[in-house]
Amino acid sequence: MKKEIRKKMVAGNWKMNKTFEEAEKLITEIADALDEVDLKGAEVVLCPPSIYLEMATDVAYESNFKVGAQNIYPLDEGAFTGEISPLMLKALKVDYCIIGHSERRKYFHEQNDFLSQKVDALLKHDIHPIFCCGEILPEREANQHFEVVKKQLEESVFHLDEKGFKKIVIAYEPVWAIGTGVNATSGQAQEMHAYIRELIAKQYGAEVAKLTTILYGGSCNGKNASELFSNPDVDGGLIGGASLKAKDFLLIISAL
Ligand code: PEP
Repeated sequence: MKKEIRKKMVAGNWKMNKTFEEAEKLITEIADALDEVDLKGAEVVLCPPSIYLEMATDVAYESNFKVGAQNIYPLDEGAFTGEISPLMLKALKVDYCIIGHSERRKYFHEQNDFLSQKVDALLKHDIHPIFCCGEILPEREANQHFEVVKKQLEESVFHLDEKGFKKIVIAYEPVWAIGTGVNATSGQAQEMHAYIRELIAKQYGAEVAKLTTILYGGSCNGKNASELFSNPDVDGGLIGGASLKAKDFLLIISAL
């Protein structure tokens, strides 16, 4: 029987950036470069704005990366003007979707129970959630960061059965590190990732915990990626700003 191993991953969250032409150019540059790379089982995921998903999955079809969305509404269809559904993503062959990003939590007031509905809606269509968790600065300063992350996981993903949970990728993203240029130290990242893996082990057992991909996100770049990824519980990164330039993003991939 083939032994399951934990997947390493670098995912790029483009947020609300790039015109169509720029998006096509960036995706093509990354796709061309990845043609020359042996990812050794690791996965690269590009998460462009939703209107570029079809173009991205077309390129991905003949390339070495997967495509993720940045958001969904947790129903298949209905009167929800401006939203997109997991059913629509599935039809486009989108494999991943970011859920619980701090910008969705902050600007769109998304809370843990709503995020749990999104997780369920994605899994219904076999789309992998990249579930983001992480504390804001005052919570870290008050030494509440472990508690905060635990609550986020308990209220949004730990209701899943083992089969469902095994499809999830966790991204630890301390909010104070996102887009600030101040990344978590290697020690802070490892400490939280080990804690998350411990929580998963308590909930689903050691084997599931061992197989869960846990990404770090927050001002990760070509300079700090190697050190961050060298930690035993850091399986790659969810990258914002540095995913917008092919050269920077490829440098991060090479740090896996
Ligand atoms: C993010 O938004 O998920 C992120 C990690 O952003 P940045 O890399 O720009 O900090």
